[in-house]
Amino acid sequence: MTEISRLVRANIRNLKPYSCARYEFKGEASVFLDANENPLNVAPYNRYPDPLQEELKAKIAGIKNVRPSQIMLGVGSDEPIDLVIRIFCEPRIDNIVAMEPTYNMYGVCADINDVEYRRILLNDDYSLDAGRILEAVDEKTKIIFLCSPNNPTGNLAERGEVLKILNGFGGIVVMDEAYIDFSSQPSWLKALDEYPGLIVLQTFSKAWGLASVRCGMAFASEQIVGYLNNVKYPYNINLLTQQFVSEQLDHEERKEKWVKTLLEQREILAAKLAAIPLIEKIYPSDANFLLVKTPDANDIYSKLTDRGIVVRNRSNVSLCLGCLRITVGTAEENDILTNTLKQL
Ligand SMILES: *Cc1c(COP(=O)(O)O)cnc(C)c1O
Repeated sequence: MTEISRLVRANIRNLKPYSCARYEFKGEASVFLDANENPLNVAPYNRYPDPLQEELKAKIAGIKNVRPSQIMLGVGSDEPIDLVIRIFCEPRIDNIVAMEPTYNMYGVCADINDVEYRRILLNDDYSLDAGRILEAVDEKTKIIFLCSPNNPTGNLAERGEVLKILNGFGGIVVMDEAYIDFSSQPSWLKALDEYPGLIVLQTFSKAWGLASVRCGMAFASEQIVGYLNNVKYPYNINLLTQQFVSEQLDHEERKEKWVKTLLEQREILAAKLAAIPLIEKIYPSDANFLLVKTPDANDIYSKLTDRGIVVRNRSNVSLCLGCLRITVGTAEENDILTNTLKQL
């Protein structure tokens, strides 16, 4: 048994996955009477879609410089977050270690799956302390969740600290890179071949501007992708999504332009916020949002919503007392926010 298989729950390791019609016959044919579809509605929408999204993955592989077999596509990156927990963690026995504060879906998915979730505080400046993460690991720890750039803090995890975790932990390390397109640092995708337990998550929801389409990417070893494919719903990514995302991928330069615009706007917004007395601190960001510290986040939040402006109140999150998370919008939206804040 390989190291990875040893980490997988026995029921998943031994699973005989559902075999759908589109898996069982692959090849050329002109008469499809195998899947109980209705031939009378318009093609190709009357047919089941490709369960493994091969065309779309080939395009993604080209852009990301990975092999198609290293990609699993999910209904947002939220799907692989849940699947990874279900594949590796035995409820009430295994545990997960994660940095805190971070994206709360990891903790919610752990709770849903009845898996212990250990929140390990970042340093006060939101930097990652690999030593503290590794101290929380025991023989029942299957997964470490890391997020870089992190949500809601906006900062990158320092490379050396991540390497300490990758080298010091024998289980699965999930590196969530939802905001990587906005970052000055390279992705961890390049490390996939070196670390068989590494899973990198990216998404079309942020820089690609496709949040409503619900399409996320998990990149991992062929073996882990195999388990993800066995456990996911066979037709998780519908044909409309496959076609639409594929067409969007033909315009990577447009995404790059959006990123450039949003990064410029982030700097302008940061400068305008810095001149507002209510804003006590603006944390450095490698993402498309700014975390800011205020004297009374609940009060400012409700005054902003009264005026039709919605930001994210993160004041109840660990280490984020008084903090609001502000997404970088258009120049006009950002100005409405800063002009309103000035008048509060
Ligand atoms: C927004 C976000 C995601 C994206 O989730 P999707 O399900 O792909 O929309 C994932 N991780 C983090 C940290 C995020 O902030």
